[in-house]
Amino acid sequence: MKIPSSTGTWSGPHVDGPLPGPGSATLLARQDRRESRARAYPRHLPIAIQEASGSFVRDVDNNVFIDFLAGAGVLVLGHNHPALVRAVTKQLGRLTHGLDFPTREKDAFTEATLSMLPPGLRDRMKVHFCGPTGANAVEAAVKLCKTATGRGDIVSFQGAFHGSTHGAMAITGLVAQKQPVAGGMPGVHFFPYSYCSRCPLDLSPHTCAVNCAGYLEHALQDANGGIPLPAAVVLELVQGEGGIVPARPEFVRRIRELTRQLGVPLVVDEVQTGCGRTGTWYAFEQYGIEPDVIVASKALSGIGTPVAVIIYDRELDVWEPGAHTGTFRGNQLAFAAGAELVRIVRRDNLLEQVRARGDQLARALAKLSDCPWVRDVRGRGLMWGIELADPESGTPATDLALAVQSHALHHGLIVELGGRNDSVVRLMPPLNVSADVLDTAVAILGDAIEACAPQPHAK
Ligand code: PMP
Repeated sequence: MKIPSSTGTWSGPHVDGPLPGPGSATLLARQDRRESRARAYPRHLPIAIQEASGSFVRDVDNNVFIDFLAGAGVLVLGHNHPALVRAVTKQLGRLTHGLDFPTREKDAFTEATLSMLPPGLRDRMKVHFCGPTGANAVEAAVKLCKTATGRGDIVSFQGAFHGSTHGAMAITGLVAQKQPVAGGMPGVHFFPYSYCSRCPLDLSPHTCAVNCAGYLEHALQDANGGIPLPAAVVLELVQGEGGIVPARPEFVRRIRELTRQLGVPLVVDEVQTGCGRTGTWYAFEQYGIEPDVIVASKALSGIGTPVAVIIYDRELDVWEPGAHTGTFRGNQLAFAAGAELVRIVRRDNLLEQVRARGDQLARALAKLSDCPWVRDVRGRGLMWGIELADPESGTPATDLALAVQSHALHHGLIVELGGRNDSVVRLMPPLNVSADVLDTAVAILGDAIEACAPQPHAK
């Protein structure tokens, strides 16, 4: 495979020698001495990155990897897409930081952002620019809904991930992250998500009546249910960090009906699913619902220049000036790149491509299900997860997932883990990934599972 980059053509993917290579080992050791223990990715992906191009990264030891982490879903056009690099470079030296003053770049970005909404929402929604992370936008959404409703409680779902700040973490399911931090935001209520492979109500998707939705309906309408009418219900349409779990359509529709009936704003967290990841610009479009608040960040600029927004029904716009401020809300580089990204998505019919590549990936991954340790393969568009579990006990196969991740890395593929006990291998390729690269990546992954999964007799 010939990979064009700004420093010449690479061949790959290839890994020469054990990982980390000597250059990476030096930088990892320096990082270990000087950076916080909370650092995460390089613990299981022990490389130091030199440069990147499209779907590939090269480490400081000249190993080349297919990158299906893609900056945690940020790099939707891959690394260093030339048009986005041009947009950012053109903007550099003109204006980079604009607080929340209007600028032509911001205006174009806002226009592009609203233009990607379904027609019914375009004129109804307003945009608030948040501090430049998904978590900050989640905080803003929660604050907006509390202010607009005058209520204090929030409904979230088991398995959810909404960020690592205090408020966003409070509505996140990840117990290990919350446990050491006492005194979280009060008034948060977790309900079962439609995670059918491990149904929290112990039912079967073939015979149940989407009882997870029914449970929430009942709880919020029961005079003795214990939960005051909430300020918001916050929902991921596909739980990302929770293990790539697409919500069942009926579950989402019933939550929308319920929240509308009760006058509770429905916040969809599209930080990970947004910007085409699932085959539509926003995942909610596939569920036939209209949310009241959309949270978006990660891929909005396409090239990693940070930006985060909430897009919400203008009826909720009761905020006083300065209600959610932040120094870094005016990143003109992100605005310039984000407007260009939308232009490219339209010009190249990128969403159609995502659906086509998504079908290709689904077909290829389905073959992995022959391995008894593969409990479930699921996803939408170019957001897929392979859940690994002990075939007999059903216990999440964390060690196997780690071994598969490491084997794949040593054969030139970067993948991340997630889900319960990190037992789900997650694939988040760039949205413009080629058919060839996709096939190569699935072959590496298939080999990794075959090599690492215990044989039935040798378990
Ligand atoms: N919401 C969702 C659904 C996410 O996946 C993430 C990040 N993985 C966040 C919020 C938080 O975004 P950030 O890391 O930019 O704060």
